[in-house]
Amino acid sequence: MSLLPQEFIRRKRDRQTLDEKDIAAFVAGITDETITEGQIAAFAMAVFFNGLSRDETVALTLAMRDSGDVLAWPDIDRPVSDKHSTGGVGDNVSLMLAPILAACGVAVPMISGRGLGHTGGTLDKMESIPGYSVMPDNALFRRTVDEVGCAIIGQTGRLAPADKRFYGIRDVTATVESVPLITGSILSKKLAAGLGSLVLDVKCGNGAFMDDPKKAETLARSLVDVANAAGLSTSALITAMDQPLASAAGNAVEVRNAVDFLTGAHRDARLLDVTLALAAEMLLRSGRAASHGEAADLARDALDSGAATEKFQAMVTALGGPADFVEAMDRHLQKAAIVRDIAAPQAGTVLGIDTRGVGLAVVTLGGGRRRAADAVDHAVGLDELVGLGTVLQEGDAIARVHARTEDEAAEAEAAVIAAYRIGEGEAAINDAVMMRIAD
Ligand code: URA
Repeated sequence: MSLLPQEFIRRKRDRQTLDEKDIAAFVAGITDETITEGQIAAFAMAVFFNGLSRDETVALTLAMRDSGDVLAWPDIDRPVSDKHSTGGVGDNVSLMLAPILAACGVAVPMISGRGLGHTGGTLDKMESIPGYSVMPDNALFRRTVDEVGCAIIGQTGRLAPADKRFYGIRDVTATVESVPLITGSILSKKLAAGLGSLVLDVKCGNGAFMDDPKKAETLARSLVDVANAAGLSTSALITAMDQPLASAAGNAVEVRNAVDFLTGAHRDARLLDVTLALAAEMLLRSGRAASHGEAADLARDALDSGAATEKFQAMVTALGGPADFVEAMDRHLQKAAIVRDIAAPQAGTVLGIDTRGVGLAVVTLGGGRRRAADAVDHAVGLDELVGLGTVLQEGDAIARVHARTEDEAAEAEAAVIAAYRIGEGEAAINDAVMMRIAD
């Protein structure tokens, strides 16, 4: 007998266990639109309050994976791996991590997202590079992964379409913040990418989805357990997002920061910690290294030898960007009309940073989106952001704003000043990598 959606929703409302076949039928109805928006919203709210068991979450994840294309990489003779971040401010790790892994002999088909809310998106950053295509055809995507070793691209509508519809409805019905639903949403897309292994970067702090370590650990544990139960070898690092990770937040400014990181011209210390820790974890997970020490050495060598920089340039060239992007980045990246320092309003130590506030300042400048359909301005943003614990004199720069107009510069400036808590005393600073969660 075919599924009666209202009975299925009633069962979750009444805290009964859902059957794997019924979950698959409900997800099929999400995809082919035979289940209504109202029914999907009611189901999401029932799950929000009553949760899903591990088995139910695995069934939901696999059904959403199977709602569209599932990629496979039969022609690639190297491990295929990826990283997913739950999102933050100044999180340009992907831009360095993919080429580091490629240089170490791991294939990285990195299917990334756009910025939403106060968080930045890898695709928006890559689109700062003139000519770079984040939506190559399938043949070019595969050729780039095969020949270069990494390709950072966007998600096509054919990958986990059930999640796309489900997420859109969750977004407008206050049901995003459910651990099993977040788990199913993230993992369905990663499983559909045909990976051999996955490492998750679960951000924790006032610029992240999960603002306290307990919640971040719960999400990381759910992601790791469900991914492994679904057959994808996965571990997670919980990393601090109580200050911007890079000293830049925006699009072109983060690309510049990433290229400077790769070439060694400038490396933010906390960004280096997180990037190398994720790289080592991916090398271990994918079987390219036998021990943590070996993995860390491989990653560091790929960075310091320039091999990762070469891979980044090769990826940019393969996907339509300038062949001299790394050496002539200043010529290729858009610049904002106004670039000026933001002065500390008082002397003291940076004791706290409202990281979400910093991300929202970038949105104010036009570097992020208020609504999903908005265009982003690649030139604007913030750089030279100082971190927690920095000792300042009154008038010292706490950041530099890149803006199109005076009004937008002034608004962002006020938002950054409001986001920085400067005073007497010692700042409490979390380690950049806070915890590792593995099966
Ligand atoms: N990111 C996703 O892809 N899905 C969620 O549900 C939350 C964050």
